[in-house]
Amino acid sequence: MHNRSKQYLIQEYGISESAIALHEQALEAVAPYFKNYEEIREYNQFKVLKAFQDERISDYHFTNTTGYGYGDVGRDTLDLVYARIFRAEKALVRPQFVSGTHAISCVLYGILRPGDTLLAITGRPYDTIHGVIGIDQEVDSPNHGSLKDFGVSYKEILLKNLNIDREAVMEALRHDPSIKMVHIQRSKGYASRNSFRIDEIGEAIRWIKEEFPQVVVFVDNCYGEFVEDREPIEVGADIIAGSLIKNIGGGIAPTGGYVVGRGDLVDQASYRLTVPGLGGECGSTFGVMRSFYQGLFLAPQVAVEALKTAVYAAKLLELAGFEVHPKAETLRTDIVQAITFHDEAKLIDFVKGIQFGAPIDSSAQCEPWDMPGYKDQVIMAAGAFIQGASIELSCDAPIREPYTAYLQGGLNFDHGKIGLLIALSRIL
Ligand SMILES: *Cc1c(COP(=O)(O)O)cnc(C)c1O
Repeated sequence: MHNRSKQYLIQEYGISESAIALHEQALEAVAPYFKNYEEIREYNQFKVLKAFQDERISDYHFTNTTGYGYGDVGRDTLDLVYARIFRAEKALVRPQFVSGTHAISCVLYGILRPGDTLLAITGRPYDTIHGVIGIDQEVDSPNHGSLKDFGVSYKEILLKNLNIDREAVMEALRHDPSIKMVHIQRSKGYASRNSFRIDEIGEAIRWIKEEFPQVVVFVDNCYGEFVEDREPIEVGADIIAGSLIKNIGGGIAPTGGYVVGRGDLVDQASYRLTVPGLGGECGSTFGVMRSFYQGLFLAPQVAVEALKTAVYAAKLLELAGFEVHPKAETLRTDIVQAITFHDEAKLIDFVKGIQFGAPIDSSAQCEPWDMPGYKDQVIMAAGAFIQGASIELSCDAPIREPYTAYLQGGLNFDHGKIGLLIALSRIL
């Protein structure tokens, strides 16, 4: 570390000498792991650039349509760029998707029909999808129009020794012909499990498709884009979805989501986003197209800055004596880092520290609060340019045993380091 940086951290940020020592040790330890992600970044950047060139992106694609938004060439061409990058037939990239959850729910509502069953094979889906499916509906939100209210059933297969339970999945498929769609979640979200790498997802799809080629395989791709050199469509997924305020928006897209995959399935999702018949042909873009293109162009780099922050955090916190998951040496498929404190006060102090290191709202004191849809109180650090953008350095934690914080993002690794060192200094 540059000597002036070290002095600066100590004098201006009040970082303790012991935190600096751990920092230097951590940086040295993670350097070999960074190399792999830098090579992935390089390849993904080539892939993105080529897609722009193949679609001959030009200034006139930065459209600014209003009203119905018919014939928005910037929007329609961005769909083609995404389709190329994901090796998919079709894409739907829209600011009208208010979040990743919304894009995912358009896929589910668009494709599933009354009498169909959705089978989750990587355990229980991400929290915000529960209301969509109607999991625990009696307790939380009766008759809000969940899939369950429309007669779509749900089954889930729990993981077995942290892996997809092949036997149980195949049993379920053989015994229940109403299973139309299989749900796979790439990132662990807030569950205590591993995230699933592309080769693991591909293997599961291979044995499902061998016997049940007609079953639609959906992958929730949130937090996964550009972490590996392939995306789920390339290993046989039929349709995937994600958020533009995570990896693929590159920290620049101000909102939005995407769906890519088989043409007929993407159309069905588009009929749910707007209406049957209109689909993706409507929807104005009010000036966001430049940021969508620019964010996509930067996304391979930004995703890897966030990854470096996560890997470094894993090593730093492990050296400081805390439990981390995954470990620094684990090959990653998403940008989420879990850190377990086994101590409520330390957890809260750590999250506050991440906020103090943010470029935005760095003087805010974050406190645990009762967030809608969560049973326990939640504390969140999110000093972000874009509200709730978790490709920016952010950290959240439910206030419950074993007091685990989920850290993600970091538009650049240097900021990631400062945020983590401030947080670490507070708890050492
Ligand atoms: C973030 C996330 C979602 C939901 O995305 P939002 O944009 O927050 O609605 C869904 N699934 C996973 C795995 C996620 O990480």
